Amino acid sequence: MAFESLSEKLQNVFKNLRGKGRLTEADVAAALKEVKMALLEADVNFKVVKNFIKSVQERAIGQDVMSSLTPGQMVIKIVNEEMVKLMGSETTEIAFKPGNEITVIMMCGLQGAGKTTTTAKLAGKFKTKGKKPLLVACDIYRPAAIEQLQINGNKQGVPVFTMGDKHKPVNIAKAAIEHAAKNNMNVVILDTAGRLHIDEDMMNELIEIKENVSVYQTILVVDAMTGQDAVNVSEMFNDKIGIDGVILTKLDGDTRGGAALSIRAVTGKPILYTGVGEKLSDLEQFYPDRMASRILGMGDILTLIDKAQAEFDETKARELEKKIKKAEFDFNDFLDQMHQIKKMGGFADILKMMPGMGGQLKDVDIDESALSGIEAIIYSMTIEERTNPDILNPSRKKRIAKGAGVDISEVNRIVKQFEQSKKMMKQFSGMLGSKGGKRKFK
Ligand code: GDP
Repeated sequence: MAFESLSEKLQNVFKNLRGKGRLTEADVAAALKEVKMALLEADVNFKVVKNFIKSVQERAIGQDVMSSLTPGQMVIKIVNEEMVKLMGSETTEIAFKPGNEITVIMMCGLQGAGKTTTTAKLAGKFKTKGKKPLLVACDIYRPAAIEQLQINGNKQGVPVFTMGDKHKPVNIAKAAIEHAAKNNMNVVILDTAGRLHIDEDMMNELIEIKENVSVYQTILVVDAMTGQDAVNVSEMFNDKIGIDGVILTKLDGDTRGGAALSIRAVTGKPILYTGVGEKLSDLEQFYPDRMASRILGMGDILTLIDKAQAEFDETKARELEKKIKKAEFDFNDFLDQMHQIKKMGGFADILKMMPGMGGQLKDVDIDESALSGIEAIIYSMTIEERTNPDILNPSRKKRIAKGAGVDISEVNRIVKQFEQSKKMMKQFSGMLGSKGGKRKFK
């Protein structure tokens, strides 16, 4: 899971802050020093860290904060807000030409960054938005690239245009656009060639395409695991060919998180999507506010809801969102969620998105039998108990434990954990307000 150690360190700093009734300027300075260290260790760009701390500090030692009843919470709120700002505040959508006009998107990036995979993932997203995409194999140097694009395109049900490896990429791009126009397709995605390092040939090839084909969006794919290298690569591509946005891949394997936090601030270009796994469905839209919540250990309920939406119908998803905001989430919802989430796979990651759960689950290896245990406990509750867990007194808990074949301490643990999550949801939804996350119910 991304940001594990950064998240853990920041949560420790915040725990200390929350514990203090009143804060002195020295307390804030000490806390921010630790935040600074944590960010640097997470490989966030040095200048970005410096500016970030400066902005937080200026706001945190203001009168309003120090004289507030909960100065610790206020500081955390400021860190959260500044972190959202750092990552660009708003979600940036990939722009399309109006109507049925063909939008040409040029994908670029270094070899191994995940460009070909991401290109196919993106085509899938466009298809669900009602677009008619065409994938174009412009990487003529790596023979396997053409085949890889064909295989992935097939899996996504998206046509792939190839002319083998004997034509210049710019000519392939031109022919592909003609093909798209004839076949009523409206998004042409060019999978261009990468190199191991930035070199002039690669850049010139991309420039040639841009000069001869009306590329509407240039999207750079970078590997999050390369940290500051990803940031440098973004800066260089932006300087040389101009990019509209970045897709950050392999966030699932990036334990530090430096690239995600630096790219926007260094290049001025937004992160559009993140790659979170090798499967073609593992591409998530980038929401600065949700990412900040995740990093600060506040969970990411909105992404969880989006994932659930793939399984839920809209009314159910809306209901769930309302319940979570009001902290009216009960054991019935919990059970319902467990069933849906099971279908979605990736249980551990999904649970980590629950507020307050990330840290607790750090070293826990989630196994299905443990989950069945929780399920058995909830099944042993009456409907009334599931709806209103407040009535769970010791004798009821004893009965439930017996029914589920577990020790009463296990029932206590689950109930306590559930109550804690609920409390945190309430706290955070209050804190983040209705601004948190752009909803996209269709
Ligand atoms: P290209 O050379 O840039 O076209 O890179 P590929 O698309 O061939 O990807 C290189 C490797 O990275 C492949 O093994 C992909 O499965 C893997 N990969 C791509 N994106 C992700 C991601 O978001 N997460 C993980 N874990 N692996 C990824």
